[in-house]
Amino acid sequence: MERNLKIPKAVIKRLSLYSRILQNLEIKNVQKVSSKELGELLGVNSAQVRKDLAYFGQFGVPGFGYYVSELRSEIKKILRTDRPIKIGLIGVGNLGTALLSYTGFKKQGFNIIAAFDNDKRKIGRRQNNVIIEDIENLEKIIREKEIEIIILTVPVEKAQEITDKVLSAGITTILNFVPTRLIVPDYVKVHYVDLSIEIESLSFYVK
Ligand code: NAD
Repeated sequence: MERNLKIPKAVIKRLSLYSRILQNLEIKNVQKVSSKELGELLGVNSAQVRKDLAYFGQFGVPGFGYYVSELRSEIKKILRTDRPIKIGLIGVGNLGTALLSYTGFKKQGFNIIAAFDNDKRKIGRRQNNVIIEDIENLEKIIREKEIEIIILTVPVEKAQEITDKVLSAGITTILNFVPTRLIVPDYVKVHYVDLSIEIESLSFYVK
């Protein structure tokens, strides 16, 4: 499917949330859902649900709603999560170890198939069935294992240098936990995860 990269980020994020809700409905054996119900579960209105989905085509039956499984599989196709995703993680410290140890990713088809570090004491060790590789072999292993997404959990001062190597290996999608803006070309997509920002903005609502 041709990727329309002009679709707003917020729509893509909501698709992922719809998919999660639909998965929960499937577990509860719910067969159909209306845009109103779907919207209520996510805290948006039904028009928003229909508008979001309309970016990608015609789904559901007017006046009836959507078949839960059908809509979920369509959304997975759009998000390209209808196949296992090959992920590499760089920096197996406190945070990297926690992410590597989390079994929930695999259930979603997100497979961390390679991990890298520069600490000789860690290289060669196995963590959740993944061998920690020498960062020196980064580019070679990324290509060999056809890694698609890189998760960065390295110290801030190393982040840009490592990113440059990641880009040389052809990676165009990075999930960055390091609290720094990465300099990357336009065609590279970086998503930033920063819990401090989340906590700070939440602190505004503390009573
Ligand atoms: P850590 O020091 O425990 O782990 C860093 C790891 O990176 C270590 O294993 C180290 O050996 C490895 N490393 C260092 N230089 C490297 C290199 N050149 N190549 C490959 N590996 C290298 O740190 P941590 O507590 O796990 O934090 C990691 C990063 O995540 C930091 O940048 C931290 O600020 C960030 N962090 C972000 C959040 C968030 O909310 N986004 C939360 C916690 C930590």
